[in-house]
Amino acid sequence: MGSIALKSVEKWFGDVQVIKGIDLEIAEGEFIIFVGPSGCGKSTLLRMIAGLEETSRGQIMIDDRDATAEPPAKRGLAMVFQSYALYPHMSVRDNVGFPLKSAGMPADEVTAKVDEAARVLKLDAYMDRRPKDLSGGQRQRVAIGRSIVRDPTAFLFDEPLSNLDAALRVEMRYEIAKLHQTLKSTMIYVTHDQVEAMTLADRIVVLDGGRIAQVGSPRELYEKPENLFVAQFIGSPK
Ligand code: ADP
Ligand code: MG
Repeated sequence: MGSIALKSVEKWFGDVQVIKGIDLEIAEGEFIIFVGPSGCGKSTLLRMIAGLEETSRGQIMIDDRDATAEPPAKRGLAMVFQSYALYPHMSVRDNVGFPLKSAGMPADEVTAKVDEAARVLKLDAYMDRRPKDLSGGQRQRVAIGRSIVRDPTAFLFDEPLSNLDAALRVEMRYEIAKLHQTLKSTMIYVTHDQVEAMTLADRIVVLDGGRIAQVGSPRELYEKPENLFVAQFIGSPK
């Protein structure tokens, strides 16, 4: 569960094309990172996979079914928003349980799922606090907790660490790597941070103006960049 395939995917905003024919197969359990400069289409592509943005042309396959026209809730994916998307008036427990409660899950089952997520994310000690009484890293863990409880087949992250300070970014990078090892779910992660990409990814997709410039393991991109754009972006010596 959690394989995703993009087939000749295009996105047009009016008569402006921002995604220009993307073909990509993401394996079950893979940690894939989209990198590229601001405006190259990373968020748009991620939002199309999530179903938050309509696909103009092409197909999005999830676990071998055509999900192109499916609404977000049907796709079984979790979009992890930045931590500021938490509900400020709710405790950590209620923030994490909210998606389940609103889906009508019985209270005792919600509690069991929330406790399990708290254990995985080491949030046990903070369950009764409000977001304002947490550190940036703890808040980001709560935001991840809110997506874990639904047992998604894949996680989608859009620059989840970009509003954290440098030390917390390093800590959360490590937490996300551990989360991937624990859950073994597919993860698609957008960043413009080369270090994040090089340390977390199984494969990196370098985007340039709505097209794939290169796909490969961090090592492949570093050692064999196909062109100067990739070399400069990855920081390889070529
Ligand atoms: P990135 O996340 O890589 O910085 P985006 O996916 O946000 O890039 O944006 C890609 C391009 O699409 C940009 O030129 C942006 O201005 C444009 N764009 C994004 N969303 C919209 C929208 N809703 N309407 C029109 N243009 C958009
Ligand atoms: Mg973006």
